[in-house]
Amino acid sequence: MQHETVIVLDFGGQYNQLIARRVRENNVYCEIYSYKTDLSVIKAKNPKGIIFTGGPNSVYLEDSPTIDPEIFNWGVPVLGICYGSQLMMHLLGGHVCRAPEREYGKTEVFVDNSSKMFADVQPSTICWMSHNDYIEQAAPGFKITAHTVNCPVAAAENAEKGLYAIQFHPEVLHTAEGKKMLHNFVYNVCGCTGDWKMDSFVENNVKALREEIGDGKVLCALSGGVDSSVLAAMLAKAVGKQLTCVFVDHGLLRKNEKEEVCAVFGPGNPNFDINFVCVDARERYFSKLAGVTEPERKRKIIGEEFIRVFEEEAKKIGKVDFLAQGTIYPDVVESGLGGESTVIKSHHNVGGLPDTVDFKELVEPLRNLFKDEVRQVGRELGLPEYLVSRQPFPGPGLGIRIIGEVTPEKVAIVQDADAIWREEIAKAGLDKEINQYYAALTNMRSVGVMGDERTYDYAVALRAVTTTDFMTAESYNMPWDVLGTVTSRIVNEVKHVNRVFYDCTGKPPATIELE
Ligand code: GLN
Repeated sequence: MQHETVIVLDFGGQYNQLIARRVRENNVYCEIYSYKTDLSVIKAKNPKGIIFTGGPNSVYLEDSPTIDPEIFNWGVPVLGICYGSQLMMHLLGGHVCRAPEREYGKTEVFVDNSSKMFADVQPSTICWMSHNDYIEQAAPGFKITAHTVNCPVAAAENAEKGLYAIQFHPEVLHTAEGKKMLHNFVYNVCGCTGDWKMDSFVENNVKALREEIGDGKVLCALSGGVDSSVLAAMLAKAVGKQLTCVFVDHGLLRKNEKEEVCAVFGPGNPNFDINFVCVDARERYFSKLAGVTEPERKRKIIGEEFIRVFEEEAKKIGKVDFLAQGTIYPDVVESGLGGESTVIKSHHNVGGLPDTVDFKELVEPLRNLFKDEVRQVGRELGLPEYLVSRQPFPGPGLGIRIIGEVTPEKVAIVQDADAIWREEIAKAGLDKEINQYYAALTNMRSVGVMGDERTYDYAVALRAVTTTDFMTAESYNMPWDVLGTVTSRIVNEVKHVNRVFYDCTGKPPATIELE
């Protein structure tokens, strides 16, 4: 089924994915493409509207990203944001130049409410600015619909042609009424009706998966993370027993994680009636990891061993027709397939694709979804909240939250400390506010005293960060009483720990994980 689609054309802005997410939050499907995409390709998508992103360049310089001006004549509304607005003005005969005063940060913008873009917006509203250039003069035929103290044209439009330019960023939350403005664009200007909803997504995709898979066999590596759990649930609903999920217990899971996954996908749950294989590979992993201290080496061993275990299980199943992957939309964009962003990481799911497993085709039903949409789909499919709202957990698991050599004893320490940390954060009601938190085991031992006796034991490090994109993060300002409670519980309840640290470092310069 063809959904109403808005296309984001990426000119290299930082917030390209955010724009698409905001549009989708308005129940309108949205995809990101590079500004280099040929106009005929864009036309073929039959979009209801087009949005140009911001970008680091200056439109009046040669070699800056540009676009075929034909795009303004073909009757589909265009919204230019920041660089996008400047480009629209520049190409249509306005004047863009270096601004006498650059604007950065929250800025008061005075808007004309008679504009469709600004319907129901406060006449004076706070918006996020980030520009060095400005539109000195709007293009002929355009009406100025917003300004600031320093910026004569903070928005302009040619409503008849459906062309809208705004200098600020409606997609970031610092723009107080940005959501409303994007809503106005997709509904009032583009005339969308809002047909992108997760319940119909599930229904349509289950149908599509049944057609695609027929009576074939599907194999899926289940890590217990959000994406793979939702993937498995979706396939379970579509093809039931034709699906085999392999869950590898590598011994580096969080406390109770295996039990939680088995309770949902294991035998006995009529909602997810599939073939579920839980491999106990703990011994194998611990012997491979014995004596290894170098972080990259550890990661590599854990990833390779995963593939090996997975392949062995796949062979037992025999002929496999499809391999299911939990790829999601940011993976697609970040591996350079959508938009203009450079390759940030080539994506792998749980350690990479085993190339010796013989299969006909990949199925990737979550490929067009953002993370929050994946969670929504999980809820629609009846997955428990503890799986759906799970925080990110790295593929190598606790292996990279134990500095130095990994041993079963150390894993037990970190599992217990982590469980206490998570429990107390939830009790304090902070779990929705903090984006990622965990306990790690430092490789440091120090002297302590317990019951009048000298101890020489490990130090646990606690980490908690807030972030929107996981590219940058800040250490959470943790209430001292929560830290106090957790510290005394850990040293009391977890053997071989006599000291607890809280990590105050942001990213950068630190990373969210320790190794
Ligand atoms: N580079 C342009 C400027 O400095 C656009 C900036 C942006 O899109 N954020 O004005």
